[in-house]
Amino acid sequence: MRKVSVAVPVPFLDLLTYRVPDGLSTPSVGARVRVPIGTRVVTGCVVDYPAEAPPGDLKDVIDVVDVEPLLPPGVVTLCRWVADYYLAGVGDAIAAAMPPGAKRKATSFKTTRVATLTALGADTVSRVDAEGLTAKQREALEVLSGSATGLPLSELRDRGISADVVGRLAARGLVLFRAEATDRDPFERAAMADVQPSESRVLTAEQLAAFDQLAALADAQEFRVALLHGVTGSGKTEIYLRLADRVRKAGRQTLLMVPEIALTPSVAALFRGAFGSRVAIQHSGLSDGERHDQWHRIRRGDIDVVVGTRSAVFAPLTRLGVIVVDEEHDTSYKQEEAPRYHGRDVAIVRGREEKALLVLGSATPSMESYQHALSGKYAKATLERRVLDRPLASVRLVNMREEYAEQGPDVVISRALESAVDDRLQKHEQVLILLNRRGYATAVFCRQCGDAFECPNCTISLTVHTARQGWRARCHYCNYAMMVPKTCRKCAAPYLEHVGFGTEKVEQHLREQFPAARIGRIDRDSVRRKGALTSLLSRFAAGELDVLVGTQMIAKGHDFPRVTLVGVISADVGLGVADFRAGERTFQLLTQVAGRAGRGERVGEAVVQTLYPEHYSIQLACRQDYAAFFERELAYRRGMRYPPTVALVNVVVRGRSFEEAMGTASDVVQRLKPLMASGSFIVLGPAPAPLMRLRGEHRVQFFLKGAKRADMRNALKTMLTEMPDVRRRMTIDIDPLNVL
Ligand code: ADP
Ligand code: ZN
Repeated sequence: MRKVSVAVPVPFLDLLTYRVPDGLSTPSVGARVRVPIGTRVVTGCVVDYPAEAPPGDLKDVIDVVDVEPLLPPGVVTLCRWVADYYLAGVGDAIAAAMPPGAKRKATSFKTTRVATLTALGADTVSRVDAEGLTAKQREALEVLSGSATGLPLSELRDRGISADVVGRLAARGLVLFRAEATDRDPFERAAMADVQPSESRVLTAEQLAAFDQLAALADAQEFRVALLHGVTGSGKTEIYLRLADRVRKAGRQTLLMVPEIALTPSVAALFRGAFGSRVAIQHSGLSDGERHDQWHRIRRGDIDVVVGTRSAVFAPLTRLGVIVVDEEHDTSYKQEEAPRYHGRDVAIVRGREEKALLVLGSATPSMESYQHALSGKYAKATLERRVLDRPLASVRLVNMREEYAEQGPDVVISRALESAVDDRLQKHEQVLILLNRRGYATAVFCRQCGDAFECPNCTISLTVHTARQGWRARCHYCNYAMMVPKTCRKCAAPYLEHVGFGTEKVEQHLREQFPAARIGRIDRDSVRRKGALTSLLSRFAAGELDVLVGTQMIAKGHDFPRVTLVGVISADVGLGVADFRAGERTFQLLTQVAGRAGRGERVGEAVVQTLYPEHYSIQLACRQDYAAFFERELAYRRGMRYPPTVALVNVVVRGRSFEEAMGTASDVVQRLKPLMASGSFIVLGPAPAPLMRLRGEHRVQFFLKGAKRADMRNALKTMLTEMPDVRRRMTIDIDPLNVL
């Protein structure tokens, strides 16, 4: 009897075994199959051929969708690793690797409908008095007569001509449709300007040494991890480009992972400049159609380089030579929904499976990666200086406690920062202003009765946003929103007060203080619309904006040569958070943002406003002294037994009431206690989660902490087989980055 193990798109479900009936050929690993599950039929993916069948009758595979495997076997193996390591369902992991639409269709090429004029149509256009045509139909004929090869329906739609109009013309024999297989090209929209051919550039001595070291590792075609620790503006991208070229000549491919493509548009454009159409991009900002096309080009082997975000770690490449994880410390590599994987860590496993070189690039490496580089587990290449010997930005600290004492408690922009902005505006230089908190105000409360606006679904105060119709208060977790009334809901007093402030208020202050300046804002609210982010960034790059205000989104990877000043409004936003990584995050953010200044010919300066000027994260970020920060932070983590000295697992249990959630969590912890007999890990909790209520559910959490991840995972697996019902009410996060 022929049997297959199939991953199905059902949350938390393990692999299912099916029989391949006589009429069907045996599907390959990575091929999609239609299988029955309960009363439904779903599309699953074959991941294995089991030796033994589970007891009981096996159901039959209904149909084999792919003859050639859709997913390369290497990617199937990787997904199984992800499912096992992160305690996720194999189906969830496989789904992350599938191209969009794979659940529905078996075809792998998209077609575009192109409309052309028929001879009759061409004849009709030339007659002024063609009968029975509406104005729109006539317009459509005229537009089409301007194009010899016809126009895709999508383009006609952009010109205001609907498919319906064209359809009616076709019905009268004036227009003909043909289907054209196309690859939609997302680069058409990307900024292609300013791409310099890289051959014209001479590497600096430091760049050359780092490149030679990495190239030798790539040439060996063995698995190796290397940390490329290079200060901001030291020219890491140039090294990635040449590495990609090197492995391409050896017939192998490059995967370049970046935290967020829209934020580093220059990277994709640079690679496109160097490798032409043999570059594909993969990220969630693309439309399904674009992603689909790019995915299949990769699968066909038509490309040498993939540039993508964390999900690109599953790109269907089969000849990987180098994987680069740029800004490897960035938290957006962690997926905060199932499967909760870390893109960098999965990349390392993929590199091992495919005997590729893994390059982790950063100016502020994560504690984990730097520790491995020091211990010799990772190779280490260093760039200590900026290209062309440009100095790092000088950093000036402004003690906001003194500022408040002298100027009153409502200061948003200190005198030092204000005069620095003024100075740059006079000189026609550009300014970045960072505040890592969006919205206008962080809370509203009534001064008479003290009533505060909390989210009805979450234990969190509502953030106030400016809106055309007035003030709106919104929950940043569940999106609950309400208009802010003029008077208190409880006592009707007209004394509602805003407390705290975010990017919207900073923008407003700047507009008042510098009415002539052209100011833009980048945060999750201002870039909700597709294309808004790229447009703001390219306007700033083109010099159409003088000042850009934003959250950490503006701190990432940009290269704006005309920026000579970076202002940080509250450097300590993160330090108040009960998170052992707060110091590391603050150090990274400040170093990165200061790194945005002075990347052109003129020197840069950063002005940092803080309540804790003596905090080591802030002090050392000002000096851009990574090594000292690492030592200091590691001592703290050792003392407290936090990662990277131990491993951590976070488990959140949800319930309809607090008692229910607590009860379940206690049962689970009781079940785990005997499993920690080996003493290699401990269980901390259960206790209320920092966000006690989220989207209407009550939340209780506990931690597993220990030296051996495998022991903790095995204990959790044992618990889950014994208590399968709790799975749906529980979120398990291995190596968590965000604990809320
Ligand atoms: P990083 O990623 O290390 O912060 P980038 O790769 O963005 O730095 O490089 C910073 C700037 O220096 C870019 O504008 C880049 O084009 C330029 N650059 C890189 N290498 C060289 C070089 N060898 N000579 C001149 N300019 C360079
Ligand atoms: Zn909410």
